[in-house]
Amino acid sequence: VQSKINPILSGQGQSRGAVIVFHDVTELRRLEKIRTEFVANVSHELRTPLTSIKGFVETLLDGAAEDPSLRNRFLGIIQGETLRLQRLIEDLMTLARLEGQQNHAISSVKISYVQNAFEIIKPVIQSFAQAKEIQLEVDLPDNLPPLNIGENLLSQLLLNLLENAVKYTAEGRVWLNAQVGPEFLRLEFGDTGCGIPEETLPRIFERFYRVDKARSREQGGTGLGLSIVKHMVEGLGGNISVNSKVGVGTVFTCYLPRAKLK
Ligand code: ADP
Repeated sequence: VQSKINPILSGQGQSRGAVIVFHDVTELRRLEKIRTEFVANVSHELRTPLTSIKGFVETLLDGAAEDPSLRNRFLGIIQGETLRLQRLIEDLMTLARLEGQQNHAISSVKISYVQNAFEIIKPVIQSFAQAKEIQLEVDLPDNLPPLNIGENLLSQLLLNLLENAVKYTAEGRVWLNAQVGPEFLRLEFGDTGCGIPEETLPRIFERFYRVDKARSREQGGTGLGLSIVKHMVEGLGGNISVNSKVGVGTVFTCYLPRAKLK
């Protein structure tokens, strides 16, 4: 608690009492801590691939480039780390943009439809799913109502959740379906994957939180996907929740407000 004392003085300057203001700074301190941790995380996440790139470039310059097989292997690693940096920077920019907007501010005059947004990412998701022999079941009826969100943002939301579903599923099914309510559109993203341990469920929407860091990294994850999704959904005035069981699978349920057409 922070306190501030202001004396009350009479017209002649005599003390009549005082006003003491107590300020609860718990929330302020909490936000400060989150901010510091975030900066530390960003630095770490950026430095790791950079250190690796620097190391491999130095080794190549020191002579490894003369061995064709070493050269190709090292260049492959450098390429992978560069892509990782690029993804990280893109995700950070998206997050910063979303955070800069007040609640409901992303629901602008823009209108988009889930089916169209899905068409944009369909080839990517289909190829991921096929590569792992996962059955992709998408059921989006034709008459879904529009949403007040730009098509690119909506595509990113679908991509983040479906990509995770495929990434964290070894075999079985990944699905997306939609139900229309009077005010909200309900989207369900499900998978028969590894599931999320119950004690970590409350943390998965945090920036950079991963249940299994090595696994996420190996899959090309930045640890920012779900926090981007949560910011988008809440910025629209909707909400997202998750249900999961280890070894059985995970279901994310998203309620998005239907567009208010003028
Ligand atoms: P990442 O880039 O690591 O996938 P996300 O923010 O998208 O980051 O997700 C955070 C973490 O939540 C992941 O690292 C993973 O541990 C867990 N997770 C997200 N989606 C799923 C899912 N469908 N099945 C199992 N675990 C998941």
